[in-house]
Amino acid sequence: MTTRKPAKKSAERASGLPYFSFRRLPGGAVLLSNDAGFTASLRAADFALFSAGRLAKGTPLHKELAAKGFVRDLTDFEGCAAACSKRNAFLGAGPGLHILVMTLRCNHKCLYCQSGALGAAGSRSDMSRAVARKSVDFALKSTNPGITIEFQGGEPLLNWDVLRDTVLYARRRGRDLGREVRLALVSNFSLMTEEKARFLLQNEVSICTSLDGPADLHNRNRTYAGGNSHAATVRWLKYFNDSAAKQVPEYRAFKPSALLTVTKYSLGREKEIINEYLRQGLSDIFVRPLAPIGYARKLWPQIGYTSAEFAAFYRSCLDYMIKLNAAGKKIRERNAVIMLEKIVNGSDPGYLDMRCPCGAAIGQLAYNYNGDLYTCDEGRMVGWEGDDLFRVGNVMKDSYRKVMLAPATRACASASNLELQPQCSRCAYKPFCGVCPVYNYETQGSLWGDMPSNERCALSMGVFDALFGLLAKPAGAKILKGWVTP
Ligand code: SF4
Ligand code: SF4
Repeated sequence: MTTRKPAKKSAERASGLPYFSFRRLPGGAVLLSNDAGFTASLRAADFALFSAGRLAKGTPLHKELAAKGFVRDLTDFEGCAAACSKRNAFLGAGPGLHILVMTLRCNHKCLYCQSGALGAAGSRSDMSRAVARKSVDFALKSTNPGITIEFQGGEPLLNWDVLRDTVLYARRRGRDLGREVRLALVSNFSLMTEEKARFLLQNEVSICTSLDGPADLHNRNRTYAGGNSHAATVRWLKYFNDSAAKQVPEYRAFKPSALLTVTKYSLGREKEIINEYLRQGLSDIFVRPLAPIGYARKLWPQIGYTSAEFAAFYRSCLDYMIKLNAAGKKIRERNAVIMLEKIVNGSDPGYLDMRCPCGAAIGQLAYNYNGDLYTCDEGRMVGWEGDDLFRVGNVMKDSYRKVMLAPATRACASASNLELQPQCSRCAYKPFCGVCPVYNYETQGSLWGDMPSNERCALSMGVFDALFGLLAKPAGAKILKGWVTP
């Protein structure tokens, strides 16, 4: 009969461990993380020694773990507290991103967007000059020292006169109040003209569009009855790229950016998509998964995919980009850059959907054409489907304070607090991750959701597994770390 003594001895040794989480990565390494946001990747054998409290002192690994707060008796608590406060510096800043929906109309009928259903005619769903100006005033009430006002739609260029007026008004109000105001436009470019482009450049409006890949794939996702969506996109991408390269002294011209929405049709075409981005002079690609929210939810069987399918797609994108980087080409993946900013630099990159708590209302607000305010654009999309759970007020009648204290604001902040999510609170990816109450509500019927069966959680795990798997290898780590400025 065996005695229980050895187990007790081992438990005593292991009690020297501080609180940490771990995950076995594909490939065999084990990732450790702690609340200060430090990570370490251990070989399985070293992890067995570490978790049993038997890792030899004084070895390079022991020193590394001690410096990162994984050895209880050697933990630098002040250093860990400073790291925590750096990573969470966004808390208390107030909403920085203000999305103004200039119109619900659109001249495209993209597979994943509801705006196409309204068409391009009429003006009933256009934001009025009064609502737009009031929205700018409201955004400037934010306690965040630097705000971004992003013009979206529908297609915002369909409401050009009001957009133009709002740009000038926001610039003037920002100057009057001594506030930093960044302006951004998200457009499909189909209605862009030289005159509009020059105005946007002169007023330092940064430009973002959608590029879903080569012409056939892009045009399949982004149907445009009035012409060729891909042709318009690449024409104006070149124009704004060339303008940024010229850098005239009178204003700052930003390099344009593009967003990729991954649909079922994108799967298997990773290389073609990335090559298309390179061809169009883009050095960043944001591999964004489609979410079954709002309109896309209805079409999910046609255009959706599983988290495992997305993870495989994402991993293959990263592998290809790493090969391209090794061959001297400049291309980065935005999700990776965002996560690496947190993992490598320990700072918050301001990405509101992967934050704890998430950015719903406390980090961003979406202003519907009629002045209704939502926690975020995704919350607005749920509103469009007839459910106003994420509505937090209206710019014409509600105060900033009332909006910040609205039931949906508070509910989203609680539901997206990872410490309160049973699975997240022990997850090795918690310091870098975030949950989405809108996604949870749409797919699982509650703001809290249920992470063990949540596809977004599975998708996040796939992305983190791919990233940490590559970071565990010297060649991958060298290239990935080069994507962020230390
Ligand atoms: S959402 Fe999933 S991956 Fe993210 S912290 Fe929670 S359990 Fe981990
Ligand atoms: S609710 Fe979801 S979409 Fe909205 S800010 Fe939070 S994470 Fe982002």
